[in-house]
Amino acid sequence: MTRSIKWRMVSIYVLLVLIVMIASGTLIVTKIRNNAYKDIEENLKGAISDMKNRGISDAATEEEIIIKCQDYINSYQDSDRKIYLLNTNGIVTFPEKYTGTSSYFNTMVMAALNDSPINKTDKVYLDEKEYRGYAEPIKLGNKIIGVIYMLEPSEQVKQNLISTVKIIILAIVLAIFLSVVFGVMFSNFLTKPIIALSDKARAMSQGDLDNEIEVLSNDEIGELTKNFNIMAKTLNNNLIEISSEKNKLETVFAHMTDGILVFDAFGVLIHSNPASKDFIDLIDKFSFGEIMGDYLEVTYDEILRNINTEIRQYIIQIDNKYVNLCFAPYLDQKDNILGNICVLQDITEHKKLEEMQKEFVANVSHELRTPLTTIKSYAETLLDGAMEDPEIATNFLNVINHEGDRMTELVKDLLELSRLDNKQTKFKMQSISLSKILEGSISKFQIHAKKKNQTMVYNSPEIDYKITGDPNRVEQVIKNIISNAVKYSFEDANITIDLIDKDRYVVVSIQDTGMGIPDEDLGRIFERFYRVDKARSRAMGGTGLGLAIAKEIMDYHGGHIKVKSEVGSGTCFSLYFPHKVA
Ligand code: ADP
Repeated sequence: MTRSIKWRMVSIYVLLVLIVMIASGTLIVTKIRNNAYKDIEENLKGAISDMKNRGISDAATEEEIIIKCQDYINSYQDSDRKIYLLNTNGIVTFPEKYTGTSSYFNTMVMAALNDSPINKTDKVYLDEKEYRGYAEPIKLGNKIIGVIYMLEPSEQVKQNLISTVKIIILAIVLAIFLSVVFGVMFSNFLTKPIIALSDKARAMSQGDLDNEIEVLSNDEIGELTKNFNIMAKTLNNNLIEISSEKNKLETVFAHMTDGILVFDAFGVLIHSNPASKDFIDLIDKFSFGEIMGDYLEVTYDEILRNINTEIRQYIIQIDNKYVNLCFAPYLDQKDNILGNICVLQDITEHKKLEEMQKEFVANVSHELRTPLTTIKSYAETLLDGAMEDPEIATNFLNVINHEGDRMTELVKDLLELSRLDNKQTKFKMQSISLSKILEGSISKFQIHAKKKNQTMVYNSPEIDYKITGDPNRVEQVIKNIISNAVKYSFEDANITIDLIDKDRYVVVSIQDTGMGIPDEDLGRIFERFYRVDKARSRAMGGTGLGLAIAKEIMDYHGGHIKVKSEVGSGTCFSLYFPHKVA
């Protein structure tokens, strides 16, 4: 490319010089030749008019004229000029050595004989030498009596012209040589910055955007170099920005918990982040169909067709996970869809929460409906006449009262939970003695235990363990666990309560030898309204919310509850309270 521009420039340069030189050379040669011939012509014309002036015009007879002409011709015998006298038939009559020849009977002579002489010389060759000839009629009055024909040698003119042409050719050769030299120099000067620009562009394409090109001149090429440097700098800055953006995005993609799958316009997987592998098996799978085929009924084409630059969502189940798939197209500058980005979000927790909410509403309705139905049916029976029998009426009213109490208890627990959920419960945190709270709670439940012939033993420690907490709430939790131990243990059961120090916690453990909780229920007893034996719980006046409330309170105190149980052998609840920070 660079070479071609260089040599093209040199060729144009040489061609221009050649054209100018040839044109001017031709002009010079033509001018010199014309001038030389003009001079000869002037000389010949001058000589003829001179001859005429020497008395030919005064002569009265033809013979007189001829003699005068011959005299004149004789006076020129020694010069190079040749003068002939021709008669009206075009035959040379003088000088004698040429008489009789009609070789000069040419156009020029003919024209002179016809009294219309050609006002120009013509070219004649004698003994291979060039002459210029000119003829004019000799008249006596109006009568033509002969022709005078003069030849002037023009060989010298020819020789002069040849040497001029030689000089011009020499000048042309010199000019071509100089134009090649200067052309190469000039094109080198012009192409050097272009080569530098080209090299830089090549280096740029290979990623080197740092080095600037030296600006060598202040002209258009210098301006181009400057602009090129600015362009390279801007490009470099943009690249740095883009690559840092890319790094940022890659870091986000690599560390985000949502999965990202990028498909091209044909549904081929072109990118996936590490999290996506936690959602879906990508091993040896490369296309949308292979990856999503088992979970989605729609094809990639359908997604592309329907997408119309909007996000499309699908909820699928992969193993035990609920996954929300969001498809968003990515476009080029002309808004053509280049492919799709699929975001995979784990909504299992969300789904569970939704299920739990539904279950909760169903449970609340169910829990309230049962006592309400009882109250209503007893009240109706009373109104239908049972009121008349005081004994039945008292019984019925007791049932109504009991159901009312249950409902009150349920609503109280629900309100409590709702307040805990909304963080509206005010905890009066203070330093409290766990031993004292335990002793108080145990003494309250001793009566209930005794009623069932159960033994309740508290192995009181020597140390007075202190924790930071709300005494009423802590007591509420302990009472709930002890009451459950009493409630869900048969007669003659043993309930053992311990207070021990374990690592960072003070642990209250309440062990009973009751009915125990089956393994499959163990994980769910802290859920709202979850009861292992619904009928028994209700009969015992339980709401199924006690452990849920206890868990929330323990969480607030920075503690937790652990439970171990074996059906038929008993259950042990352990309340872990963090040590009081001194
Ligand atoms: P409830 O008001 O029914 O007692 P809880 O939330 O206090 O509700 O307890 C939830 C369920 O856990 C109870 O219904 C019961 O089935 C089971 N449970 C709790 N404590 C014990 C225990 N000590 N022994 C056996 N089952 C228990």
